[in-house]
Amino acid sequence: MPSHDVLIIGAGLAGQRAALAAAQSGATVAIISKVHPVRSHSVAAAGGINAALNPEDSWESHAYDTVKGSDYLGDQDAIEIMCRAAPDEILWLEHAGVTFYRDETGHLGTRAFGGASAARTYYVADITGHAILHVLYEQLMKHSDAVDRYEEWFATDLLQDDDGRCIGAVSRNLRDGRLEVFNAKATILANGGAGQAYRPTTNGLIVTGDGIAQAYRIGAKLKDMEMVQYHPTTLAGNGLLITEGARGEGAWLLNARGERFMEKYAPNKLDLASRDVVSRAEQTEINEGRGFPDGTVALDITKVPKRRVLEALREIVNIGRDFAGVDITSEPIHIRPGQHYIMGGVKTDVDGQTTIPGLYAAGEVACVSVHGGNRLGANSLLDTLIFGRRSGEHAAKQAVHMPMPTTPATRISDTEAAINAIIRRPEGGRRVAAIKGELGDAMNQYVAVFRDADGLQKAREIIRRLKEEAPKASIDDRGSIFNQDVIGAIELGYMLDCAEATVIAAQERKESRGAQFRTDFPERNDEEWLKHIDVSANGDDEPIVSYSPVTITKWEPQERTY
Ligand SMILES: Cc1cc2nc3c(=O)[nH]c(=O)nc-3n(C[C@H](O)[C@H](O)[C@H](O)COP(=O)(O)OP(=O)(O)OC[C@H]3O[C@@H](n4cnc5c(N)ncnc54)[C@H](O)[C@@H]3O)c2cc1C
Repeated sequence: MPSHDVLIIGAGLAGQRAALAAAQSGATVAIISKVHPVRSHSVAAAGGINAALNPEDSWESHAYDTVKGSDYLGDQDAIEIMCRAAPDEILWLEHAGVTFYRDETGHLGTRAFGGASAARTYYVADITGHAILHVLYEQLMKHSDAVDRYEEWFATDLLQDDDGRCIGAVSRNLRDGRLEVFNAKATILANGGAGQAYRPTTNGLIVTGDGIAQAYRIGAKLKDMEMVQYHPTTLAGNGLLITEGARGEGAWLLNARGERFMEKYAPNKLDLASRDVVSRAEQTEINEGRGFPDGTVALDITKVPKRRVLEALREIVNIGRDFAGVDITSEPIHIRPGQHYIMGGVKTDVDGQTTIPGLYAAGEVACVSVHGGNRLGANSLLDTLIFGRRSGEHAAKQAVHMPMPTTPATRISDTEAAINAIIRRPEGGRRVAAIKGELGDAMNQYVAVFRDADGLQKAREIIRRLKEEAPKASIDDRGSIFNQDVIGAIELGYMLDCAEATVIAAQERKESRGAQFRTDFPERNDEEWLKHIDVSANGDDEPIVSYSPVTITKWEPQERTY
């Protein structure tokens, strides 16, 4: 039975950064990933990572922009920690080998991003996540004496001892179907977000909310789950992302009449207002008949010199050509708001500790909360690295003084029985993909840029019905080698849990703040709702909703304009 001081589930940026930090703090580490680590979804991150590294910029300015971007729901102690640590983290990455863009003077160059009062986004063309992920993986190899990698292993269940402490996880080797108990003194969830609960989404097929649901099922609190980010520039239909870096480089948003409509909604920041503001503006243009017949507006990247597009935005040149048949260097491309990111997740403190002893979370799976009601572009990569590192360090420090827990191997039997029950399901039931598709469509219709009580109630009822159908969904593959059918059936349950928590929190918050715009409660209401909504599972009964205060250090809530 593998036994380690620290078990990390997830090998994207948060997981790999946590693994390095834990190993460098003297712990033995296991890192598990359901795909090869460099295929983790962090690889898709395009536009860049924020830091106030330029001497004319300041961490306070970065922090204020983040607080304002969060619509004052972000916890300011956590935001301060993240923004203060950002410059050193960028330098650490640079020294580790990330080839950040340098300008003609040889200095690290930046691009502008939404909601920021200075250009402070560091980048590698439009493949920033790819570049960082590969460098971290190289660093992991360097620490292979302390870090055991379990690649293509799927964690199915978190384990607890009699006192409720998390002592590891059960995982399935996807190559042969073998189950194994992973013993650990501390467990860090780094499983990423839950974007696949929506259709379409910019997130890959592997982003299915596994960590959020697994933590929720053992009693961890989830926080800010109603806050789901719709990115302003995604392709209609398939949801592929056109990076905010395009607007950072000078692209304009236009409606079907050719008007630069952001002049009306955000006269100062225009196309680079924060994402919730831009997405609402676009959706308003579309809803009021000033969009194109395919339910989109246009992004005009021809405003950016062609040479610069080919140098700094080459991936979206390919995406435009291959997925929309558009040469973005010569004509505008049709885009619309699309699901992109979840600000909520497993509730943690600034060291990544969740409400379950021994269980940590970092990255998109977690809610610290540095993003509050709305994440600023290029702050997520930073969040994964800063809080991944802090979780790894904290978990290692705690673990070194603890005895190794012992988990009886028989703890596998529940998981085994659950997987066998999936394999033995009779043929002819509704397909996993059909249920998942209906869930995604319902979330995209009722829990999107604009929400109201009726729509949220409809979504809740659909989810309730789908939760009854899911355990009967039939699968085709009954084998043990790379059985993605079984995995898909398990992931469906995770997505339904995440969607349910999202809708419950959205119903609860009777105001408009950040990404949650309630047409039936269109104002922000600080008096009643300047607080976090926490959701926890309650067996077969309705989940429990509770509240926690927003931490304010320096910046009192103000009216938010861009
Ligand atoms: C297209 C796109 C572009 C983006 N661009 C930017 C950007 O420019 N800047 C920015 O700041 N943010 C950006 N973001 C957001 C950012 O990329 C993500 O929030 C961040 O990378 C998430 O990292 P993570 O480490 O938390 O999770 P991920 O990178 O998603 O990693 C999750 C890991 O968990 C593993 N895993 C999940 N479930 C299980 C399980 N059950 N068992 C075992 N392993 C499991 C996966 O295999 C994977 O290794 C972008 C997002 C998208 C979708």
